[in-house]
Amino acid sequence: MRRVPGGGSWKKPLPEDPDAFVSRTVQRYEEHSGAALARLMRFMGMATLEWEARGAVVRDAHGNEYLECGGYGVFFHGHSHPTVVRAVQRQAEELALSTRMLLNLPQAVLGERLAAVAPEGLQYSFLCNSGAESVEAALKLARAATGRRSILATGGAFHGKTYGALSASGKDMYRDPFVPLVGGFSHVPFGDAAALEAEANHLAESEGGLAAIILEPIQGEGGVIVPPDHYLQAARAVCDRFGALLILDEVQTGIGRTGSMFACTQWDVVPDILTTAKSLGGGVMPVAAMMARRACWHPFDDHPFIHTSTFGGSPLACAAAIAALDVIATEDLLGRAQRLGSVLGDGLSAIARRYPGAIAAVRGRGLLWGIELRSEGAGGMLLNLLIDAGVLVVYSLNMPRVIRIMPPAIMSEEQMAFVLDAMDRAARATEEVASEL
Ligand code: PLP
Repeated sequence: MRRVPGGGSWKKPLPEDPDAFVSRTVQRYEEHSGAALARLMRFMGMATLEWEARGAVVRDAHGNEYLECGGYGVFFHGHSHPTVVRAVQRQAEELALSTRMLLNLPQAVLGERLAAVAPEGLQYSFLCNSGAESVEAALKLARAATGRRSILATGGAFHGKTYGALSASGKDMYRDPFVPLVGGFSHVPFGDAAALEAEANHLAESEGGLAAIILEPIQGEGGVIVPPDHYLQAARAVCDRFGALLILDEVQTGIGRTGSMFACTQWDVVPDILTTAKSLGGGVMPVAAMMARRACWHPFDDHPFIHTSTFGGSPLACAAAIAALDVIATEDLLGRAQRLGSVLGDGLSAIARRYPGAIAAVRGRGLLWGIELRSEGAGGMLLNLLIDAGVLVVYSLNMPRVIRIMPPAIMSEEQMAFVLDAMDRAARATEEVASEL
């Protein structure tokens, strides 16, 4: 059984016959959740199940351990952080879900806490269950608040897979099977301020008018694309010029992932509407928020039931999010993310310099890093080698040759050294194979 630093103390017994147990579980997937996912996991060599996880360590059903550097960005606090788990357990015993006929304390407190940590002026929160839902709320609010129709988005963007969010996203593979999408969306290349301004100008003049520009401060699923320095400020200026709203999608970058509570503060840009999700639940509960300034909130005040969700902002989810924000403060997770992030960034850049035949580029901020391989095949190989070595990473949905590394801020220095060592060996092996092709 493979061990990683910090692993070893587990509570849940392993299955007696792991191979038989895994086969039976995969068969259940195939029969009732669709065969494709099970087939893909098998193809990628993952013939096991996730079994138990704590902190930065995940254990599979065969007893092998992995360091968490993936999870699509959810585990900024690591797995099952005890403070978050305790808060959720307590809340579950008191009041798990809202009656929806009475107000409750956790939702009131979370709204107040979010306003305190958000960029200045983002006073109101609509709470929901997923990143895509928070984007839907943002798009609807933008149209209702401005009375205008057009939304300008960017190529390679990922905002989720519900209809509105998908319409804002910029990858045809996920969009084409579902056309017609929601009308009124246009796309320009990400990072090109001149193209953004030209298209905004065109939309502002056209019938319907420009309601909003939606951007990720750093494109995550697009392959960890950090925009040029003045891009976000240019987007802010374009919105101000045309009286449109700036929506920043911080579902992935928000709540500490890039080393600050929200990435947009690193460019000194305050949006009118901000969405956030993944890390907000502290790695324990799904919870998301759409935050907005007072000046554009009026449609939701005029009609409090115009946009609602039965489960959104449940006491359970809010308790997790409040505890997650507490942990960030008490454990200085933003400082940790900056320090660990610079070790990670320096380490990955050195590896990229050693293996230029495999790695085309390395980029990121804080604890969100992408390694761009020279081909998609090399990306798949690097991912497999890392998982075999005990490091869980993910690829990027809108640019699969970019492997993303998103470790928790609670990861120890020893664990980070293990990750970088595994990465070095995996990159070397990938380069050797690439040179033989
Ligand atoms: N927005 C961004 C920037 C994301 O990265 C994601 C998911 O990766 C989403 C929206 C959609 O979030 P969810 O998968 O929770 O719906």
